[in-house]
Amino acid sequence: MLNLNNVTHTYPNGTRALDGVTMSIGKGLFGLLGPNGAGKSSLMRAIATLQTPTSGDIRFGDIDVLAEPERLRAVLGYLPQEFGVYPRVSAYELLDYMASLKGIVSAADRRGTVETLLVQTNLWNVRTKAVAGFSGGMKRRFGIAQALIGNPKLIIVDEPTAGLDPEERNRFHNLLVEIGEQVTILLSTHIVDDIADLCPRMAVLANGRIQLEGAPDDLIARS
Ligand code: ADP
Ligand code: ADP
Repeated sequence: MLNLNNVTHTYPNGTRALDGVTMSIGKGLFGLLGPNGAGKSSLMRAIATLQTPTSGDIRFGDIDVLAEPERLRAVLGYLPQEFGVYPRVSAYELLDYMASLKGIVSAADRRGTVETLLVQTNLWNVRTKAVAGFSGGMKRRFGIAQALIGNPKLIIVDEPTAGLDPEERNRFHNLLVEIGEQVTILLSTHIVDDIADLCPRMAVLANGRIQLEGAPDDLIARS
Protein backbone atom coordinates (compact mmCIF):
# COMPACT_ATOMS: atom_id res chain seq x y z
CA MET A 1 0.00 0.00 0.00
CA LEU A 2 1.29 3.45 -0.99
CA ASN A 3 0.05 6.19 1.34
CA LEU A 4 0.47 9.90 0.79
CA ASN A 5 -0.47 12.27 3.57
CA ASN A 6 -0.77 16.00 3.02
CA VAL A 7 2.10 16.16 0.50
CA THR A 8 2.95 19.71 -0.52
CA HIS A 9 5.59 20.97 -2.91
CA THR A 10 6.46 24.61 -3.46
CA TYR A 11 9.22 25.39 -5.98
CA PRO A 12 11.81 28.07 -5.16
CA ASN A 13 10.01 30.53 -7.49
CA GLY A 14 6.90 30.21 -5.31
CA THR A 15 4.85 27.89 -7.56
CA ARG A 16 2.82 25.54 -5.37
CA ALA A 17 2.78 22.39 -7.52
CA LEU A 18 1.32 20.10 -4.84
CA ASP A 19 -1.12 21.43 -2.29
CA GLY A 20 -1.94 18.86 0.40
CA VAL A 21 -2.19 15.60 -1.57
CA THR A 22 -3.60 12.74 0.50
CA MET A 23 -4.37 9.35 -1.06
CA SER A 24 -3.91 5.59 -0.71
CA ILE A 25 -3.02 3.23 -3.54
CA GLY A 26 -3.23 -0.56 -3.26
CA LYS A 27 -2.05 -3.38 -5.53
CA GLY A 28 -2.95 -3.21 -9.21
CA LEU A 29 -3.24 -0.34 -11.64
CA PHE A 30 -4.02 3.11 -10.29
CA GLY A 31 -4.50 6.02 -12.69
CA LEU A 32 -3.56 9.61 -11.96
CA LEU A 33 -5.34 11.86 -14.46
CA GLY A 34 -4.72 15.56 -14.82
CA PRO A 35 -4.12 18.31 -17.36
CA ASN A 36 -0.66 19.72 -18.07
CA GLY A 37 0.57 21.68 -15.08
CA ALA A 38 -1.68 19.77 -12.63
CA GLY A 39 1.30 18.54 -10.60
CA LYS A 40 1.54 14.94 -11.88
CA SER A 41 5.29 15.01 -12.53
CA SER A 42 5.94 16.72 -9.20
CA LEU A 43 3.96 13.96 -7.48
CA MET A 44 5.72 11.17 -9.41
CA ARG A 45 9.13 12.67 -8.61
CA ALA A 46 8.22 12.88 -4.91
CA ILE A 47 7.14 9.22 -4.81
CA ALA A 48 10.21 8.11 -6.80
CA THR A 49 12.48 9.99 -4.34
CA LEU A 50 13.80 12.19 -7.17
CA GLN A 51 12.60 15.35 -5.40
CA THR A 52 11.87 15.87 -1.70
CA PRO A 53 8.49 17.49 -1.09
CA THR A 54 8.31 20.65 1.01
CA SER A 55 6.13 18.90 3.57
CA GLY A 56 4.00 15.81 4.09
CA ASP A 57 4.50 12.11 4.51
CA ILE A 58 4.86 9.23 2.02
CA ARG A 59 4.83 5.57 3.05
CA PHE A 60 5.04 2.38 1.02
CA GLY A 61 4.29 -0.63 3.22
CA ASP A 62 6.64 -0.25 6.18
CA ILE A 63 8.97 2.11 4.28
CA ASP A 64 9.05 5.77 5.33
CA VAL A 65 9.88 7.02 1.83
CA LEU A 66 11.22 10.46 2.77
CA ALA A 67 13.35 9.14 5.64
CA GLU A 68 14.56 5.96 3.87
CA PRO A 69 14.75 6.76 0.15
CA GLU A 70 17.25 3.97 -0.54
CA ARG A 71 14.76 1.34 0.70
CA LEU A 72 12.10 2.69 -1.66
CA ARG A 73 14.53 2.78 -4.61
CA ALA A 74 15.32 -0.89 -4.03
CA VAL A 75 11.68 -1.85 -4.73
CA LEU A 76 10.87 0.83 -7.34
CA GLY A 77 10.63 0.52 -11.11
CA TYR A 78 10.39 3.80 -13.00
CA LEU A 79 9.34 4.15 -16.62
CA PRO A 80 9.89 7.71 -17.80
CA GLN A 81 7.99 9.09 -20.76
CA GLU A 82 11.06 8.96 -22.96
CA PHE A 83 14.55 7.62 -22.63
CA GLY A 84 17.20 10.18 -23.41
CA VAL A 85 19.40 7.98 -25.53
CA TYR A 86 18.98 4.73 -27.40
CA PRO A 87 22.47 3.44 -27.95
CA ARG A 88 23.13 1.18 -30.88
CA VAL A 89 23.53 -1.82 -28.63
CA SER A 90 21.09 -4.72 -28.65
CA ALA A 91 18.09 -5.04 -26.36
CA TYR A 92 19.76 -8.02 -24.71
CA GLU A 93 23.03 -6.20 -24.07
CA LEU A 94 21.30 -3.09 -22.77
CA LEU A 95 19.11 -5.04 -20.31
CA ASP A 96 22.12 -7.03 -19.17
CA TYR A 97 23.98 -3.79 -18.54
CA MET A 98 21.02 -2.29 -16.65
CA ALA A 99 20.77 -5.45 -14.54
CA SER A 100 24.41 -5.04 -13.57
CA LEU A 101 23.70 -1.39 -12.61
CA LYS A 102 20.86 -2.67 -10.40
CA GLY A 103 23.38 -4.81 -8.56
CA ILE A 104 22.69 -8.22 -10.11
CA VAL A 105 26.30 -9.31 -9.96
CA SER A 106 26.25 -12.92 -11.12
CA ALA A 107 26.24 -13.38 -14.91
CA ALA A 108 23.99 -16.44 -14.56
CA ASP A 109 21.46 -14.44 -12.51
CA ARG A 110 21.53 -11.63 -15.06
CA ARG A 111 20.97 -14.08 -17.88
CA GLY A 112 17.92 -15.57 -16.15
CA THR A 113 16.51 -12.10 -15.42
CA VAL A 114 17.10 -10.71 -18.90
CA GLU A 115 15.74 -13.75 -20.73
CA THR A 116 12.58 -13.81 -18.61
CA LEU A 117 11.95 -10.09 -19.17
CA LEU A 118 12.53 -10.33 -22.94
CA VAL A 119 9.97 -13.13 -23.18
CA GLN A 120 7.47 -11.38 -20.89
CA THR A 121 7.59 -8.15 -22.90
CA ASN A 122 7.45 -10.02 -26.21
CA LEU A 123 10.87 -8.80 -27.32
CA TRP A 124 12.60 -12.17 -27.43
CA ASN A 125 12.60 -12.29 -31.23
CA VAL A 126 14.29 -8.89 -31.48
CA ARG A 127 16.74 -9.32 -28.58
CA THR A 128 19.78 -8.99 -30.85
CA LYS A 129 18.46 -5.86 -32.60
CA ALA A 130 19.50 -2.34 -31.63
CA VAL A 131 16.98 -0.62 -29.36
CA ALA A 132 17.65 2.55 -31.39
CA GLY A 133 15.77 0.95 -34.33
CA PHE A 134 12.72 -0.16 -32.35
CA SER A 135 9.22 1.15 -33.05
CA GLY A 136 7.48 3.29 -30.41
CA GLY A 137 5.61 0.30 -29.01
CA MET A 138 8.73 -1.83 -28.84
CA LYS A 139 10.54 0.97 -27.01
CA ARG A 140 7.71 1.25 -24.48
CA ARG A 141 7.82 -2.50 -23.90
CA PHE A 142 11.59 -2.31 -23.59
CA GLY A 143 11.00 0.44 -21.02
CA ILE A 144 8.77 -1.91 -19.04
CA ALA A 145 11.42 -4.64 -19.25
CA GLN A 146 14.06 -2.32 -17.77
CA ALA A 147 11.62 -1.07 -15.13
CA LEU A 148 10.95 -4.68 -14.06
CA ILE A 149 14.61 -5.57 -13.41
CA GLY A 150 15.00 -6.66 -9.81
CA ASN A 151 11.30 -7.47 -9.19
CA PRO A 152 10.01 -4.04 -8.13
CA LYS A 153 6.93 -3.83 -5.89
CA LEU A 154 5.98 -0.35 -7.08
CA ILE A 155 6.12 0.79 -10.71
CA ILE A 156 5.64 4.36 -11.86
CA VAL A 157 4.70 4.92 -15.51
CA ASP A 158 4.66 8.44 -16.93
CA GLU A 159 2.32 9.11 -19.92
CA PRO A 160 2.06 5.42 -20.87
CA THR A 161 0.84 5.58 -24.45
CA ALA A 162 2.45 8.77 -25.78
CA GLY A 163 3.32 8.22 -29.44
CA LEU A 164 1.86 4.70 -29.77
CA ASP A 165 -0.41 3.52 -32.56
CA PRO A 166 -3.62 1.64 -31.56
CA GLU A 167 -2.12 -1.84 -31.90
CA GLU A 168 0.99 -0.92 -29.92
CA ARG A 169 -1.23 0.74 -27.34
CA ASN A 170 -3.30 -2.44 -26.91
CA ARG A 171 -0.24 -4.62 -26.47
CA PHE A 172 1.22 -2.19 -23.99
CA HIS A 173 -2.07 -2.08 -22.07
CA ASN A 174 -2.21 -5.89 -21.94
CA LEU A 175 1.31 -6.01 -20.57
CA LEU A 176 0.48 -3.47 -17.86
CA VAL A 177 -2.63 -5.41 -16.82
CA GLU A 178 -0.59 -8.63 -16.55
CA ILE A 179 2.09 -6.94 -14.44
CA GLY A 180 -0.55 -5.18 -12.33
CA GLU A 181 -1.71 -8.56 -11.01
CA GLN A 182 1.50 -8.75 -8.95
CA VAL A 183 2.48 -5.20 -8.04
CA THR A 184 1.31 -1.62 -7.52
CA ILE A 185 1.43 0.41 -10.74
CA LEU A 186 0.85 4.14 -10.76
CA LEU A 187 0.02 5.52 -14.22
CA SER A 188 0.21 9.24 -14.80
CA THR A 189 -1.54 10.58 -17.88
CA HIS A 190 -3.66 13.39 -19.33
CA ILE A 191 -5.53 10.87 -21.55
CA VAL A 192 -8.83 9.66 -20.06
CA ASP A 193 -8.91 6.49 -22.21
CA ASP A 194 -5.59 5.22 -20.86
CA ILE A 195 -7.18 5.07 -17.44
CA ALA A 196 -10.76 4.12 -18.35
CA ASP A 197 -9.49 0.96 -20.10
CA LEU A 198 -6.98 -0.10 -17.50
CA CYS A 199 -7.40 1.14 -13.98
CA PRO A 200 -9.96 -0.09 -11.43
CA ARG A 201 -9.13 3.01 -9.34
CA MET A 202 -8.14 6.53 -10.27
CA ALA A 203 -7.73 10.06 -8.99
CA VAL A 204 -8.04 13.39 -10.76
CA LEU A 205 -5.35 15.95 -9.96
CA ALA A 206 -5.73 19.64 -10.78
CA ASN A 207 -3.96 22.67 -9.34
CA GLY A 208 -1.92 20.39 -7.10
CA ARG A 209 -4.98 18.95 -5.36
CA ILE A 210 -6.83 15.65 -5.63
CA GLN A 211 -10.23 16.69 -6.96
CA LEU A 212 -11.88 13.26 -7.22
CA GLU A 213 -10.93 9.69 -6.34
CA GLY A 214 -12.76 6.47 -7.15
CA ALA A 215 -13.64 4.02 -9.93
CA PRO A 216 -13.27 5.45 -13.48
CA ASP A 217 -16.84 4.46 -14.44
CA ASP A 218 -18.28 6.49 -11.57
CA LEU A 219 -16.00 9.50 -12.01
CA ILE A 220 -16.26 9.73 -15.79
CA ALA A 221 -20.06 9.36 -15.68
CA ARG A 222 -20.22 12.25 -13.21
CA SER A 223 -18.09 14.64 -15.27
P1 ADP B 1 2.23 18.04 -14.74
O1 ADP B 1 3.21 16.92 -14.69
O2 ADP B 1 0.84 17.63 -14.33
O3 ADP B 1 2.23 18.77 -16.05
P2 ADP B 1 4.11 19.50 -13.03
O4 ADP B 1 4.30 18.79 -11.76
O5 ADP B 1 5.15 19.36 -14.09
O6 ADP B 1 2.65 19.10 -13.61
O7 ADP B 1 3.92 21.05 -12.75
C1 ADP B 1 3.04 21.56 -11.75
C2 ADP B 1 3.26 23.07 -11.62
O8 ADP B 1 4.58 23.32 -11.13
C3 ADP B 1 3.15 23.82 -12.94
O9 ADP B 1 2.62 25.09 -12.68
C4 ADP B 1 4.59 23.92 -13.38
O10 ADP B 1 4.78 25.06 -14.21
C5 ADP B 1 5.32 24.08 -12.06
N1 ADP B 1 6.69 23.58 -12.09
C6 ADP B 1 7.10 22.33 -12.44
N2 ADP B 1 8.42 22.20 -12.30
C7 ADP B 1 8.87 23.39 -11.81
C8 ADP B 1 10.15 23.90 -11.44
N3 ADP B 1 11.25 23.14 -11.51
N4 ADP B 1 10.23 25.16 -11.00
C9 ADP B 1 9.14 25.93 -10.92
N5 ADP B 1 7.89 25.51 -11.24
C10 ADP B 1 7.76 24.26 -11.69
P1 ADP C 1 6.12 -9.92 -32.54
O1 ADP C 1 7.30 -10.74 -32.12
O2 ADP C 1 4.85 -10.26 -31.83
O3 ADP C 1 5.95 -9.79 -34.01
P2 ADP C 1 7.75 -7.60 -31.93
O4 ADP C 1 7.51 -6.53 -30.95
O5 ADP C 1 8.87 -8.52 -31.74
O6 ADP C 1 6.39 -8.43 -32.02
O7 ADP C 1 7.87 -6.91 -33.36
C1 ADP C 1 6.97 -5.92 -33.75
C2 ADP C 1 7.21 -5.60 -35.20
O8 ADP C 1 8.46 -4.88 -35.37
C3 ADP C 1 7.33 -6.85 -36.03
O9 ADP C 1 6.61 -6.66 -37.20
C4 ADP C 1 8.81 -6.98 -36.28
O10 ADP C 1 9.07 -7.58 -37.52
C5 ADP C 1 9.28 -5.55 -36.35
N1 ADP C 1 10.70 -5.43 -35.96
C6 ADP C 1 11.51 -6.40 -35.58
N2 ADP C 1 12.74 -5.96 -35.30
C7 ADP C 1 12.70 -4.64 -35.46
C8 ADP C 1 13.67 -3.59 -35.29
N3 ADP C 1 14.93 -3.79 -34.88
N4 ADP C 1 13.27 -2.33 -35.53
C9 ADP C 1 12.01 -2.08 -35.93
N5 ADP C 1 11.08 -3.01 -36.12
C10 ADP C 1 11.41 -4.29 -35.88
